[in-house]
Amino acid sequence: MSAGPSWARSQELYARALDLLPGGVNSPVRGMGAIGRDPIFIAEGSGAELVDVDGNRYVDWMCSWGPLIAGHAHPAVVEAVTAAAARGTSFGAPTEAEVDLAAEVVDRVPGAEMVRLVSSGTEATMSAIRLARAATGREKLLKFTGAYHGHVDGLLAQAGSGLATAGVPASPGVPAAQAAATILVPWNDRGAVERALAEHDVAAILAEPYPANMGFVMPAAGFLPFLRREADRTGALLVFDEVISGFRVARGGAQEREAVTPDLTVLGKVIGGGLPAAAYAGPPELMNLIAPAGEVYQAGTLAGNPLATAAGLATLELLDAAAYERLGAVSRTLAEGLHLAAREAGAPVHVAWTTGLLTVFFREGPVASYEDARACELDLHGAFCRAMLARGFYLPPSQFEAWFPSLAHTDEHVERTVTAAREALAEVSP
Ligand SMILES: *Cc1c(COP(=O)(O)O)cnc(C)c1O
Repeated sequence: MSAGPSWARSQELYARALDLLPGGVNSPVRGMGAIGRDPIFIAEGSGAELVDVDGNRYVDWMCSWGPLIAGHAHPAVVEAVTAAAARGTSFGAPTEAEVDLAAEVVDRVPGAEMVRLVSSGTEATMSAIRLARAATGREKLLKFTGAYHGHVDGLLAQAGSGLATAGVPASPGVPAAQAAATILVPWNDRGAVERALAEHDVAAILAEPYPANMGFVMPAAGFLPFLRREADRTGALLVFDEVISGFRVARGGAQEREAVTPDLTVLGKVIGGGLPAAAYAGPPELMNLIAPAGEVYQAGTLAGNPLATAAGLATLELLDAAAYERLGAVSRTLAEGLHLAAREAGAPVHVAWTTGLLTVFFREGPVASYEDARACELDLHGAFCRAMLARGFYLPPSQFEAWFPSLAHTDEHVERTVTAAREALAEVSP
């Protein structure tokens, strides 16, 4: 047995960071507490590989939680961003690239006819909800347990006791009234949706059409068309949060693949190509309610930022039919390899996947909801992630997240990952 990598410099930086940043990080899951270790500080990335501050190399299956569908420092993206920076980093006035990026979104995403650019997914969902409330004159929201839509007060709600219940704050600091305006139901549970809609007038049914924040969980057959019908029947808007699935699972996102068009679409991650950009989009009847066309106020100093629009456009330009075919093939080979490796190692895991998304659940399938995902062996998952890190594979450090295959992952990366996973699974399985 080798001694394994040294993380001495990461430990030093983490000790310093703990005095300066809450928990030593700027976003909680980066802390790696969910897999029982301290964070690793990254120095650089190229393609599908990362190098940490101790010089350890990793195959990166997290890819910054989704934006880097083309991998780290893709030459076309670097060139576009560098050229944009040389022309000026922010104007607070309209630019041509904003119009081009909006046109690209409209061309790809079935539900997008007009677009408002913002700077983060959180801001985009927050703003889409304000618009939905303004358009319907209603205040309540229906969301699914385990779905993540950013850290907006009203969406940091969790289920209280019983089904189809008004939410309770999922974080200190969230007003009870905000959480109570959010109705929570389990994903894929039609009866719970019907009961909730019978009890409450909701402004919007908010869903990740391909949930990837409870681990990746597909919608059951017919569930998305059912949500579309229920929204139409009750006068609620259907809002798809495609911050992860947009431009990833298909050219036009999950809504294109599933042929279900929402009233509003929320986009993020890939749209910024690794820089801060996000968007919400819909038909003119709704989007023209937004200021200055209409009265629903929403603004942003850095919205449509020139570097972010350049990175987004350069990234989307890479995403043609051949790219999705390649992304699908890499995802499939990885999923099948991991499934087989788990069988050989006698590890009780379920591999859920689609184009560009994958989760290794540490339990037998099926996993159809957050409630199912929560029954995973979290300690085993943590041990697996740690064993993979020691072998040079950087996985998302939480059971409730997805791996993000990219265009930069080669067949060789997949083969090495599967081989390491076979060893790691054998090592950690009881
Ligand atoms: C990441 C994410 C968000 C929040 O985006 P941020 O840019 O982190 O604010 C919203 N919805 C979904 C589905 C996400 O995965």
